Amino acid sequence: MSAVSEVPPFERLSRDLLPVTYHLHLKPDLSEFTFSGRVQIHLSVAQSTSHITLHAAHLTVQRLQVHVRAATGEVREVECVRWALRAHNETLVINLAQALPVGAQVELSIEYKGELNDTLRGFYRTAQGPAQYGAVCHFEATGARHAFPCWDEPSFRAQFQVNIQVADASLVILSNMPEQSRELGPEGGVRVAFQPTPSIPTYLLCWSLGQYDFIEDVTPDEVTVRVYTPVGKKEEGAFALEVAVKALRYYKEFFGVPYRLPKMDLIALSDFAIGAMENWGLLTFRERLLLYDAQTSSAMIKQYVALIVAHEVAHQWFGNLVTIEWWTHLWLKEGYATWIEFLCVDHLFPEWNFWTQFITDTLNPALELDCLDNSHPIEVKVENPAQIDEIFDLISYNKGASIIRMLFNWIGETNFRRGMKAYLDRHAYGNATTEDLWKALEEASGSPVGTVMSTWTQKKGYPLIRASLCESKNELSVKQAPFCIGKGSSGGVSDQKECSLWEIPLSLTTKMSPQHSTMSIVLKGESEVVFLPENDNRSWLNLNPGKVGYFRVHYSPELMKRFVPAIEDRSLPVQDRIGLLQDYTDLCHAGIVPSVELIQLIEKYRDNEDFTVWDAVVASVKALQGLMQSDPECLDSFNFWQRWLFQPAMKRLGLDARSNDSHIDMLLRSLLHWSLVRANDEETLNDGLERFEAHRNGSALIPADLKSSMYACALRLKGQEVFDSLIQIAKDTDSHEAKGEVYNALGQSQDSNLLQQALEYGLSPAVRLQDTRSVLSSVSSESVLGRNLCWSFFKANASEIGKRYKTGGLLTRLIKAVTCPFSTLEEAAEIEAFFESHPFPGAQRSIKQAIESVRLRAHWIQRDLESVKTYLIDFQTKQASTPA
Ligand SMILES: [Zn+2]
Repeated sequence: MSAVSEVPPFERLSRDLLPVTYHLHLKPDLSEFTFSGRVQIHLSVAQSTSHITLHAAHLTVQRLQVHVRAATGEVREVECVRWALRAHNETLVINLAQALPVGAQVELSIEYKGELNDTLRGFYRTAQGPAQYGAVCHFEATGARHAFPCWDEPSFRAQFQVNIQVADASLVILSNMPEQSRELGPEGGVRVAFQPTPSIPTYLLCWSLGQYDFIEDVTPDEVTVRVYTPVGKKEEGAFALEVAVKALRYYKEFFGVPYRLPKMDLIALSDFAIGAMENWGLLTFRERLLLYDAQTSSAMIKQYVALIVAHEVAHQWFGNLVTIEWWTHLWLKEGYATWIEFLCVDHLFPEWNFWTQFITDTLNPALELDCLDNSHPIEVKVENPAQIDEIFDLISYNKGASIIRMLFNWIGETNFRRGMKAYLDRHAYGNATTEDLWKALEEASGSPVGTVMSTWTQKKGYPLIRASLCESKNELSVKQAPFCIGKGSSGGVSDQKECSLWEIPLSLTTKMSPQHSTMSIVLKGESEVVFLPENDNRSWLNLNPGKVGYFRVHYSPELMKRFVPAIEDRSLPVQDRIGLLQDYTDLCHAGIVPSVELIQLIEKYRDNEDFTVWDAVVASVKALQGLMQSDPECLDSFNFWQRWLFQPAMKRLGLDARSNDSHIDMLLRSLLHWSLVRANDEETLNDGLERFEAHRNGSALIPADLKSSMYACALRLKGQEVFDSLIQIAKDTDSHEAKGEVYNALGQSQDSNLLQQALEYGLSPAVRLQDTRSVLSSVSSESVLGRNLCWSFFKANASEIGKRYKTGGLLTRLIKAVTCPFSTLEEAAEIEAFFESHPFPGAQRSIKQAIESVRLRAHWIQRDLESVKTYLIDFQTKQASTPA
């Protein structure tokens, strides 16, 4: 074996040469799964050079020529002395016999071949039916180089003219721009030329071929919007189409800047690595997140479709018209789009309470991750493709969105919109950085946006605010320090000086003024004393109204006690009830407050009727479940307690759909039903089995919102026979949503043989690459047995999994799903040792985060399990002796 090879340090491409236009000719072969390509790149020479370095990966270069056009118009070829493909940094390096003069117009022509693979990146194939394939591109972040040699960094914007030639003229062929011309060839082939794009970066280029139907609409300013669906399913594109058309209008008004392309296509893909991608004018989606069937789809899918369409349409401005300068600023487009998708959907569907859902779905997961030692700052230095792939995470998306929300609330909508328009106008068709956005918002608002916001983007984590009454009782003492969940023994705050202070926009609501803030400051120093507006020594005082601030609050016991009546009588606003519970859960996780107190706090939420509040309660209950999972006696009492908690709300709502059910009622019904299944509620399980039998024999259908949890009931009670039925249901349907309903239920069995079958099925060809995690996670998250089997299965198949996924979100989420549920220090050490000997380069940070979470849970158990157990057993005894 050779010695470890020296990898030279990472370098971004030189700007001596700048691509201006690309003419791209592609000939995909959908029977051999290969493609041949020819690209002509016109370059301008900014600095004289005799070297050309551009990106290319997994391509075979067959011919390469360089021509220079002199000012006189004369064209001559420049000799290429040598060229080579470098695998380590995915480049093609060309040495010329002569230097290219400054200002010259250069044409680089390359003929090459590539493969249509199954990796879901670059130019890859999609399975559309038995032995029927299409092909599509997914280029973000560094996939374009797998499809054609190019300057594959976001700051190299250029114009692209795409031509595609295929043997089958019946295929639907799409790209970012409308068709310019179409020529039928001999023997049934076709060559399609697309209109040139405006200036765009490589990662936003896209083309697609396959069999699709479409449904279309035209906006008042004559943008043609189409949703492409699998053949025979165009009606299922209607909802996405409606949202897309409305979102285009909403953003045009919000930004004061029109959409710039003549058309916008949204296409549902059978194989897709992420949720969706914003390629300018050709937006690609995982099929399950674009199709909505009013008869058979769940309320949750409807929401997902609305949100993800609103997200990708927002990128047409924020990301496409103005592009990030480098991937360090990824959060700028992703955090922003994640925030504004809620703004847009809340505007379109105000009855869905979307900003409240934001707190549980977006803000809280970011806070949970960001208090780990292994979190990272929003603006993070990244170089190679694996590092870039790994930052498409909750920090870039969810934390990014959360701090934009905080900023929006701080400077106000008018200033915010004025600043946004200035930013988009100033950088249109160009690139920008985080600082450019702050500058525009600062000019518009007159507030020190850059100084305040850089404290949130440039370092990891967030503050814990400790609030207590001063002796006089009419003053509030407010102190900030970095919240580190692993440092519970020192009050959950870091003593490290490197973690300096944040500039925190703070406001205050009280019992007398629950909706309107009575104070607004920016807390810059370590502490502040706030004079209280009224001298009511019983009023609750909320330092994070609407849960808008990206921080947690630790109230003194005296202040905490004041919230309790307002939780019970529900006079505390919904968002504040949620925020309070989430903060308390994390404080408990850190060891700052005991778990028994958290359980008692959750009990105060039992009479609540709001879906979003229940959603937060269920999340806290699940976190507690991790504490008891390995102690059967404790788990038994905990299940008893959960049934006591959830049953009244389920009874009030009822399991059968009512004619006046709202969207939110449907979400709540599914949430409560799942909770009772997990709590092993006998009545729920028996009823579920009965309904499943009726569903199976066609006498009564289960509504989509309840399918997964009903499947789970039947599987728990009837084992193999139901397992086989579920596999058959997944096989017989062509709906990705319906397959997903099965995947989510498969891990619900408590039989090791069935769990093992579920794992093997999850990695079999019957399950698409993007769906394996759903199956594995369903097994690993529900029981000690499941997580042990899943981990053994993962280890046995690690090299196959590594080969399948390489890097990216599918891999990191899969690894987290398999490892995070563990709960002892020995298990953490074993996971660590395994990944040391089996490294996954694109998942290093995720692995560290998972191990850290396991260790935290282990400490939590050591600290609190005994007292929780005593409390729960006692609770069960008391309840059992209380007459119903
Ligand atoms: Zn996005």
